[in-house]
Amino acid sequence: MKALISDFGGVLTTPLGNSFAAWQRESGIGLADLGTAMAAATERHGEHPLFVLEKGEIAQEEFLRRLDAELDDDLSIDGMLDVYFEHLERNHEMIGFMADLRARGLRMALLTNNVREWEPRWRPLLPEIDDIFEVVVDSAFVGVRKPEPEIYALTVERLGGGLEPVDCIFVDDIEVNCETARQLGMTAVMFETTEQARAEIDSALAQ
Ligand SMILES: [Mg+2]
Repeated sequence: MKALISDFGGVLTTPLGNSFAAWQRESGIGLADLGTAMAAATERHGEHPLFVLEKGEIAQEEFLRRLDAELDDDLSIDGMLDVYFEHLERNHEMIGFMADLRARGLRMALLTNNVREWEPRWRPLLPEIDDIFEVVVDSAFVGVRKPEPEIYALTVERLGGGLEPVDCIFVDDIEVNCETARQLGMTAVMFETTEQARAEIDSALAQ
């Protein structure tokens, strides 16, 4: 293994579920309500609002407008992002582990499904980003998102050096993203806990 491609949210941060739970408590909007609104917006516009947001095809404002339009009148999505990011914290151990891997000579890339307007919120959580990762691929700026194979290929290509997918370990907390990585020949580690992910990465590196 010559390279590692890491996800950001849920791998280098505390679990995203913590942020959603906090938002649910503060907004009174349950995950089921949110899911129903997402499904209704998908039906109305012919595309999943989060997917097009993460590909930079719509602005955050339009995303929030589409969801708000599907929620009951007494519920509002306003303030969702503030609460979400307020409860998102660094996974210090995992970030330290990534820094060690870079120091050991592994080629390192960050591959994130993200949102253009969120960059000023998530990047400050990882001030050492450019010291650890040679390549940062953000879906919102490249117009494709995980699990589309093109974004994995783009990441490997940007790492350069004749690397192939088979040389890469891929770490993500979403199974469907890991599935594509495996189909492309990468060794995928489905992040569940820091301890488990570290052990699986170490074992892939020892092969
Ligand atoms: Mg994630």
